[in-house]
Amino acid sequence: MATPKKKTSKSRRDMRRSHDALGANAYHECPNCGELKRPHNVCPSCGQYDKREVVAKKAAE
Ligand SMILES: [Zn+2]
Repeated sequence: MATPKKKTSKSRRDMRRSHDALGANAYHECPNCGELKRPHNVCPSCGQYDKREVVAKKAAE
């Protein structure tokens, strides 16, 4: 296995990890039903995307 020649210092290690934090997920109101949905995704509540129904509603059975 490839092995590093020098031990990574706490400073170097922590500088690398400074970019590792997760940001908050983006959410936006659905223009059809007003539920919060992820942008560029089909609304999980009404199944609409771009003003038309793409996925059949689960509740209407
Ligand atoms: Zn919706």
